[in-house]
Amino acid sequence: MWFRRDLRAFDNAALYHALKECRQLHCVFVFDREILDPLIEKGLTADRRVEFILASVAELDASLRTLAGDEASTHGLLVRHAVAREAIPALAHELHAQAVFANHDYEPDAVERDTMVRGALAHQGISFVTFKDHVIFERDELLTQQGRAYGVFTPYKNAWLKKVDDFYLKPYPVAKYKASLAAHPANVHVALPTLALLGFQPTNLSTLKIPTGASGGEQLFDEFFERMDRYGATRDFPAVKGPSYLGVHLRFGTVSVRQLAAVAHKLAAKGSEGAAVWLGELIWRDFYAQIIHHFPHAAKGAFKPEYDAIKWEHGKHAEALFAAWCEGRTGYPLVDAAMAQINQTGYMHNRLRMVVASFLVKDLGIDWRWGERYFAEQLNDFDLASNNGGWQWASSSGCDAQPYFRIFNPQSQSEKFDAEGKFIRRYLPQLAALPDKLIHAPWQASEIELLAANVELGKTYPKPIVDHAEAREKTLARYAVVKKTA
Ligand code: FAD
Repeated sequence: MWFRRDLRAFDNAALYHALKECRQLHCVFVFDREILDPLIEKGLTADRRVEFILASVAELDASLRTLAGDEASTHGLLVRHAVAREAIPALAHELHAQAVFANHDYEPDAVERDTMVRGALAHQGISFVTFKDHVIFERDELLTQQGRAYGVFTPYKNAWLKKVDDFYLKPYPVAKYKASLAAHPANVHVALPTLALLGFQPTNLSTLKIPTGASGGEQLFDEFFERMDRYGATRDFPAVKGPSYLGVHLRFGTVSVRQLAAVAHKLAAKGSEGAAVWLGELIWRDFYAQIIHHFPHAAKGAFKPEYDAIKWEHGKHAEALFAAWCEGRTGYPLVDAAMAQINQTGYMHNRLRMVVASFLVKDLGIDWRWGERYFAEQLNDFDLASNNGGWQWASSSGCDAQPYFRIFNPQSQSEKFDAEGKFIRRYLPQLAALPDKLIHAPWQASEIELLAANVELGKTYPKPIVDHAEAREKTLARYAVVKKTA
């Protein structure tokens, strides 16, 4: 059993089938050099996700040993730090395996890796058996009446809700076949690497109290369960503890999406509006996973190719604007506070992801792929399909995009969703003394008001790097090219 983005020893499709069908099952995790080494080469050696994975893998190792009824070290995970597409066939050979089991991954690079692994295993007469686990419905399971993939969310969601039933949500009873878990062969190396051995440095993950592993996922879900009813009313306000914060756990499979969806589905059926809205978010996740499966071109360019004709800002000017956005120096407090949140914690509230993405693309005129890449580096819950979907939504080039002429106003978003400036004050303490009505747009304050709040524009806090009204006009002109080619 090759674990990848499914780091749990319960309700795991491939693990269940592997235990059921094999006499002797070895469990494997590979810290893939093809993913990690490029980060090291770029100097990105403080990555919360690597630390999250390491802690979660350690917990998975312990859970497998507990499952085997062997707390000592003869069972558990075999861990490698290697190139996965080479290490898996080599290890399968070493262990005299007849089959390798894994769960599906829909990202284009992972699909390519799995194709190579499948080929290398087949060469040795070993089968590669894979399962759906990461989503409720995958690939061709939900198609339009014409047999085509859905490109618009609402009809997809309706079809999803129509089709879902207990069959799709029931857990895989992994423990039933636990007797198949094999002890490690005497000569096979098993030790977990340290963060330093992987080439990474410690981050602030534990200071942030981001709980890791399946136990962390369970803890967050238990907490969220208590407030799920209020999700619909609270989820848009970044200063409020509204969302679940389960993104990173869904990303690495330390929670089971079936279990989460089953609870939300049941509560929604009993009339919980919050649960219904939250289930809708899990459906967005399925939606984007099937989009990347059916339309892999979207991973590189616009989902709607006519949007590739847009000419973005470029050169030194664009690079300076982009750097100001990344570092939270745009002069728009909600945008800057949001960028401070992602930079300091690896998390950003969904409303703010929409606000900063729109700001980058439609106020600064920067190619959405720059922002997509930055999020990919920073987000603990980075998921290619959802990130790409979110960015294409913001740039209006994706499926279900907002029309390009609908442009978020960063000031009114701030007044609406952080009316009392609580979120802004948390991340921009230099603005804390400004009154609520001015904190969204300090450039509108008088000299006296700024002085009273100890704010010096251009010194303690930047002046706005663009004028929103002007930027809006520029964007409409920039996007006009789409109308012509469409
Ligand atoms: P909750 O509100 O508690 O939602 C529960 C779960 O539902 C999330 O963990 C996530 O798995 C799923 N979900 C919620 N909203 C969406 C959505 N719009 N699209 C897809 N799935 C959703 N989500 C990611 O998981 N990874 C990303 O890399 C990512 N990048 C984004 C980039 C942009 C520009 C935008 C606008 C959104 C992005 N999202 C991404 C979607 C969403 O912002 C996050 O899933 C959510 O903020 C995670 O926080 P949470 O777990 O507290 O969410």
